[in-house]
This record gives sequence, C-alpha cells and structure tokens, in this order.
Amino acid sequence: MNKKIILRRGKEESLLRFHPWIFSGAIHHTEADEPLSEGDLVEVLSSSGHFLAIGHWQIGSIAVRVLTFKRQPIDQTFWQKRLAAALDVRRAIGVCGREDNDTFRLVHGEGDNLPGLIVDIYGSVAVMQAHSVGMHVCRMEIAEALRAVMGEHLKAIYYKSETTLPFKAQLEQENGFLWGQSADNVARENGLRFHIDWLKGQKTGFFVDQRDNRSLVEQYAQGRKVLNMFCYTGGFSVYAMRGGAKLVHSVDSSAKAIELVNANVELNFPGDTRHKAFAEDAFKFMDEMPGSTADSQSSESYDLIILDPPAFAKHKDALRNALRGYTKLNAKAFEMIQPGGILFTFSCSQAVNKDQFRMAVFTAAAMAKRKVRILHQLHQPADHPINIYHPEGEYLKGLVLYVE
Ligand code: SAH
Repeated sequence: MNKKIILRRGKEESLLRFHPWIFSGAIHHTEADEPLSEGDLVEVLSSSGHFLAIGHWQIGSIAVRVLTFKRQPIDQTFWQKRLAAALDVRRAIGVCGREDNDTFRLVHGEGDNLPGLIVDIYGSVAVMQAHSVGMHVCRMEIAEALRAVMGEHLKAIYYKSETTLPFKAQLEQENGFLWGQSADNVARENGLRFHIDWLKGQKTGFFVDQRDNRSLVEQYAQGRKVLNMFCYTGGFSVYAMRGGAKLVHSVDSSAKAIELVNANVELNFPGDTRHKAFAEDAFKFMDEMPGSTADSQSSESYDLIILDPPAFAKHKDALRNALRGYTKLNAKAFEMIQPGGILFTFSCSQAVNKDQFRMAVFTAAAMAKRKVRILHQLHQPADHPINIYHPEGEYLKGLVLYVE
C-alpha cells in the first residue's frame, strides 16, 4: 500500500486498545505517491514507524475508520469473511433462518468491525447504507460479498445512502438497487408483518432496533389503553394490539408515517377498530389530553404510554437542550398517565448517556409529583452489538416505569 498516515507521538494508544477511529488531530503527516482522496485505503503507522492498522480515510474530524489491525489485503475475501462473521452472530442470537422473523440487522458498523456500514435484511432484500466515503467506494465489492454470504435467500440489494454520506464529499449518490429488483416490501418480525418503505422511509425503512422492546410492550398490553407517541411505522402499536390492548392511539407529526401505521395495522388486524392514528405534533397532542390544563381532545386517558422520540441530540453541543427536551416530554407523560400506568420511555441520542437520560426522566417524574418505580432497563437488541473497544456504539436506552 502506497498511502500511509503517520500519527503524532503517543497518539497510537487508542489504536493499541483497538478503538476503530483516528481523529484528524492525531495525524502528524501523510506519505503518498499522489494526494489522498476521500475513501482511500490507508496504512496507519505510529510516530516510530510501527504498523498499527488499515482503514478508510476521509476529510472530517474522524479521519480514518479502521477496518483491520492486521496487515492484510482489503479484498473480496476480506469482505466475505467479515459479513460471514456478522451472519454467524445473527444465527447465534436466533434472529435469522426463522419462519416468523426475517427482519434483522446484519451489519451494525463498528459493532461488526465494519465502521461506516449498515446492512438491514428485510425478507429477501438487503438494504445497505454507507456512512463513510470508504464504504461507498467499496459498495459493489461489498454487494458481491453479501450475495456470496447470503446465498439464494437474497433477491435484491438496495443502496440507501443519499442522506447518510458526508454532504461535503459531493458524491451525489442516489438511492437505488445495486443488484436485483424487488417490489415485495412486506417483512416479518416475530410473526407480525410490516410494509417496509426502503425507498423513502427513515433509516433503512424500519426501526429494527426496537424489536425486543416491542415484544415487551406486547406483554404489558392486555386490557390497556395505549398511546404510542412518535409511532413512525407503528411497530409498538401492532405489538400492543396483538397483546390484547383495549385501544391503541398512534401519534406522529409526519403524515407519511400515519399512512404507514394505518397500513401496518390493516395488514395485521384488518378492520380492527381499536386503533386510531393522529398526524400531530407530540407536545400539542399531549397538551390537549385530559390530566393537562388544556381542553381534552379525547375522553380516554392512557395507562400504557410509549415515548420513542427522534434523537434530540445529534451531537454533544446539543446536549443541554436535548436533556431539557426529554424532561419536558416525560413530564407530560407523567402528568397524563393513569395511576398504575406503565411508561416505556426511550432515547436514541448517542450523545446522551444512560445516567443523563435517567436524570432527565427522574426530574420529569418529580416535576409531575408521581411515584415511579423502574421495572426494566432497556437497550438496543443483540443484532446491534456494541464493540467493547468502541463504547460510542451504545445509543439506545430505555426505561419501563410503573407510575403510581
Ligand atoms: N417508534 C418508532 C420510531 C420512532 S422515529 C418505531 O418503533 O418504529 C421518530 C418519529 O418521530 C419519526 O417518525 C418522526 O416523524 C416523529 N416525530 C419527530 N418529531 C415529532 C414531533 N414533534 N411530534 C410527533 N412526532 C414527531
């Protein structure tokens, strides 16, 4: 390899502990026959010239994403081995090769030693997403390797990186199929069926990461009046209905999401009148509920509430506002939930840690003067593994609370 990055003295330490990122400030100089271009493979050396790693280089604060700490070619065999290892983990977890479940995350970036790459499987379609220029450059090789590893199960690979690639790299990549075609967009999760909008939907089309937490909602739903706030495709709503909820209200500010949730409820429970969806802002909806000061828009008062908002803090600078947002939102839920109610509350902001999130929620409970007990502490599922050398990979946090 003729492109080398030499680190400043002492900056090799995190790499020796297998952390997969190199920040731009750690780089002393580069040695290359021609100027580096974004997405290039580079060899990383310590200040004394020792080999440390090979990774993808790009402009930005994270300058190199490490693919390997060994001297090895990054070729078809490499990609196949990594993807096969990821599939082995999913087999061990028990999320694939099942009649009732064909929806799972196959590759979770750093958690699968493939920084910058996400692959979600929906039935016979893989939706691939690159978050780094390097993974984008390698997309066809990776697609080939995916086909080899997944075998005949796979009918198409859809590439959905329009909004995840660094804007400044000016790649102007459009979403589309890299291989095959599929119009069948119904996937199965724990025996329930969901329309997956990989063409236009958020993330890869579905929030695969809430699968286990949705199952837990199902267990608590019997006879309850459920409010699923920030419902998106209505995953929690459909599970609550199967769990025997008395009624389920789904709320999302996006009209497209409300179309999706209605379609998914209809797919699983055609003609079921227990469900109603509202295209409305969460705060506005809750302000208008009984238990709060404003006039009520419905005579129902909920005893199972799910709060799964979008990431309030996309980066560290937004932390204070994000925590305030979580407190305000949760306080509203504590004000309106019936005695004996169950609150499922989540944060998917990577910049907010578990303790900060708890503090925001506990502050909210105190503000609403409710007595609250923790029943469960939730997190991302096993097919979103956390590489212990990359603790930043832990992002989803949740609490299940019993509210007296
Ligand atoms: N719970 C969902 C995922 C939620 S994603 C699931 O299990 O699939 C967050 C959702 O919040 C998005 O669909 C977005 O449209 C919605 N949203 C964002 N801001 C909102 C607001 N102020 N009020 C209501 N919904 C909002």
